[in-house]
Amino acid sequence: MKILKMGMVGGGIGAFIGEVHRKAARMDGYVQVVAGAFDIVPERSLEQGRILGIDPKRCYGTYQEMIRGELALPPEERVDFISICTPNVTHFPVAKACLEAGFNVMCEKPMTMTTEQADELQRIVKKTGLTFGLLHTYTGYPMVKLAKDMVKAGDLGKLRKIEVRYPQGWLGRLAKVKPISAAWRTDPKSSGSSCCMGDIGTHAANLAEYVSGLKITEVLADLGTYLKGRLDDDGNVLFHMQKGVKGVLTATQVGSGEENNLQIWVYGEDRSIGWFQQDPNDLRVLGDNMPEQIWKRGNPYVAEKSPAAGRCTRTPAGHPEAFLEAFANHYKNFTDTIRARQLKKKPTALELDFPSVEDGVRGMKFISAVVASSKKGSVWVKI
Ligand code: NAD
Repeated sequence: MKILKMGMVGGGIGAFIGEVHRKAARMDGYVQVVAGAFDIVPERSLEQGRILGIDPKRCYGTYQEMIRGELALPPEERVDFISICTPNVTHFPVAKACLEAGFNVMCEKPMTMTTEQADELQRIVKKTGLTFGLLHTYTGYPMVKLAKDMVKAGDLGKLRKIEVRYPQGWLGRLAKVKPISAAWRTDPKSSGSSCCMGDIGTHAANLAEYVSGLKITEVLADLGTYLKGRLDDDGNVLFHMQKGVKGVLTATQVGSGEENNLQIWVYGEDRSIGWFQQDPNDLRVLGDNMPEQIWKRGNPYVAEKSPAAGRCTRTPAGHPEAFLEAFANHYKNFTDTIRARQLKKKPTALELDFPSVEDGVRGMKFISAVVASSKKGSVWVKI
């Protein structure tokens, strides 16, 4: 299999998610990081490149230099794709520049700062025909893929209600702990119109839409700020979906003691399913007059029910997989799609199973609607 060359924007020394991207993209051995503009400070970018053992000629001070430098190389030597792991404010200009220069893009979420930028990026992706992935981590878990396939197969009967919650606590401890990545997240200039809903609420909304196969059509939100003088650090949202399904989404970044306790319950007329990110190898199935079932990742019955889950499983049952593997699954499908297109082949549905520019547009519309609803005093706002 062709080893793809990866370039990066962001992921400098001490940054959080860039290192996760590097580990995940390389997990299966078919991607190599060969270039990067890793840091907002050019000297620190070069230093990170040196630490990573990258050819000094391909360690760039800025993303504009990287695009120019890569375009100056013969086509077969250039990066095959560029991963954007910077704060939200840079996603749009960097993604636009990369796509317009002809590079495939894997982008962090939320995709842009505004819905207008999201629409524009979607147009550019369509026009260029390039591959664009968005890193909504949680749909990369095999048991989430199984949940989606159970819903699709009708195992739950008609869907009734979805509850999704994403509590964290780290932004509530700021008086004592001040990680660098907290400052830009809580500032509208670098984060966008929302902190909590943009940072983790969008993950929860994306999860609900992915598992159910339905779109959120309207929201009623109550966002709040517990540590004054910054964007929302907490929020509660009622939502309506297609086909009359209703839901509740709650997210917080100030829940004392909470880590990344993302959970989803999907309730149907016949069965209900529950998945918990901190226990990600199990999927719970409930029904009337039956004992609770726990489906366990890595068993043949999971792959039989969900080829998407089977394809994204690396270790046998009982050897847990989690966050890094979920990330790696998005990279696996994203890079297989690029390889297929390079060979002028149509990617399969399983290869295309990674979050797309359309998910990015949905995420931005979700953020915009919940912020508008809350500002108007918690009224229903259509998406
Ligand atoms: P961070 O502050 O830890 O790191 C950001 C990095 O980007 C730093 O190295 C910084 O120097 C670099 N940077 C900033 N501007 C740059 C520029 N113009 N050119 C080159 N480098 C630049 O932030 P983080 O926590 O890693 O978050 C980064 C992004 O990832 C955010 O959009 C965030 O929402 C997203 N994120 C996603 C997940 C997920 O699960 N998918 C988890 C955490 C963060």
